[in-house]
Amino acid sequence: MNFVILGKPGAGKGSICEEFKKNNLIHLSTGDIFRREIASQSELGLLANSYIRKGNLVPDEVTNDIIKKILVENPNKDYIFDGYPRTINQAQALKKNMDDLGIELDAVINLIVDDDLVIERLSSRRVCKECGAIYNTRNHNPKVEGVCDKCGGEVITRADDKIEAIKERLNVYNNQTAPLIDYYIKEGLIMNVDGSLDTIDLYQVVMKNLNERKSLSSSNL
Ligand code: ADP
Ligand code: ZN
Repeated sequence: MNFVILGKPGAGKGSICEEFKKNNLIHLSTGDIFRREIASQSELGLLANSYIRKGNLVPDEVTNDIIKKILVENPNKDYIFDGYPRTINQAQALKKNMDDLGIELDAVINLIVDDDLVIERLSSRRVCKECGAIYNTRNHNPKVEGVCDKCGGEVITRADDKIEAIKERLNVYNNQTAPLIDYYIKEGLIMNVDGSLDTIDLYQVVMKNLNERKSLSSSNL
C-alpha cells in the first residue's frame, strides 16, 4: 500500500505517520529530508533552508528529483508520502514516476483542520533535531526538558514555527497545495478525515476507512 498524507501545516501529518510506521510503511517526509540536509549543512540543505525559513516551498524540480531517486532505488517498498506532493506539478511528477515503476497510489488521506488550530498547534510544537519525534508544550513534553524520549537528541522549536512563517505557510498551502484536493478527488483517491482528533483516534479512523475501501475494491473484482 502507498499513501499520500495531505493537509495544512500543523494538520497532524507527521504525527499520524509515526503511527503508520508501526505497519512497516516507509515514512517519506520531504520536510524531514530537508531538515536533515540543513542539519548536515549540505549544498541541498543550504538551498532548501533559504526557502524553508521564510515559509516558502523548495522548488519543484529539486523536490521531485529527491523523491524520484528514492523510488527508483527502492521501488518495491510501501511508502507513506508526508508533505509530498505539495503542488500540482509535484503530483504530476509523482504520478509519472510511479507509473514508470509500476507502483500504484492507494489513497490520499486529507486531514482537515481550521487555521486557528494550526496556529495553536504549530506555535506550541517542538521537534527532536535528531529523529524528528514531535512534542508540544501544551500536553506532550519530553520527560526531561529539551531531551528527546526516543533518542536523547535535542528538542527544539523549528525556525518555520515562528508566527510570521506559520502565516506564510498557510498562504502557500491555500494557493499551491489546496488545489491538490480537487486533483485527487478526480483521481478517486481522496479520503477526508477530521484532523482535530487525537492522533490515536485519527489513526483508527484512517485504518477503518482504508479497510473499508480495500473490502469495497475486492468485492468489485
Ligand atoms: P509542515 O507541513 O508542518 O509545513 P513539513 O515538515 O512538511 O512541515 O515542511 C516544512 C517545510 O519544508 C515547508 O514549509 C517547505 O518549505 C518545505 N517542504 C516540505 N515538503 C515540500 C515539498 N513537497 N515541496 C516544497 N517544499 C517542501
Ligand atoms: Zn529523537
